[in-house]
Amino acid sequence: MQIQKFTVGMFQANCYLLTDEQSGLSAIIDTGDGADLAHNIEAMAQGSHANHPEIHAIFLTHAHVDHAGGLVTLQESLHAQTCLPAMEKDMFQTLPAQGLWFGMPQYNRPCGRIDRLLHDGDVFRIGSLDIQFISTPGHSPGHGCYLVGDDLFSGDLLFAGSIGRTDLPMGDGRAMQQSLARVVALPPHTKVHSGHGPPTTIGDEVARNPFLSFARQAAGTGKPWHR
Ligand SMILES: [Zn+2]
Repeated sequence: MQIQKFTVGMFQANCYLLTDEQSGLSAIIDTGDGADLAHNIEAMAQGSHANHPEIHAIFLTHAHVDHAGGLVTLQESLHAQTCLPAMEKDMFQTLPAQGLWFGMPQYNRPCGRIDRLLHDGDVFRIGSLDIQFISTPGHSPGHGCYLVGDDLFSGDLLFAGSIGRTDLPMGDGRAMQQSLARVVALPPHTKVHSGHGPPTTIGDEVARNPFLSFARQAAGTGKPWHR
């Protein structure tokens, strides 16, 4: 799998283009807030044929404007199936209003089209890639991560050295703890591609992330930390 990262928009959100090298088929994870990702994809399409991505699906980790606000622009040029976590439906409807929360009226525009709602454990096949949806609420009601082999696309759940905030509307600190407990149980070598900032691994975060001290304590005692 080839992973290309695009950091876009006012909030510097990371969007990912995954390409299955066997079939040449691609998928996008998160769209950014505006037209930047669409412009990047267009520029690639105008390059050599080898770089022309055949994008079959768009996956959203959650429906905050910095991750999903660009959907409507992308859908003008792409005919990809768009997948949203089922529990994120209500948040998706607030996309135009979120611009007002952040004082940016330019986000007051249509949200785009959702073709499929995802539930925990759903697997979506793109060429030879199995993209598994893991429900990880807390930062937002339906937030989810996508696991592809040993690569986790963690949205705003887990960052290098930090975690997503839970103080935004519809955030839930307790759900966040349970979601973090789920993903830190993944193998330590799992690569983490976050919604903001640099990549990391589950092992590095369990060792150093101040918000994951519960996992270190459990490792010290040998007791399970799942609740
Ligand atoms: Zn967010």
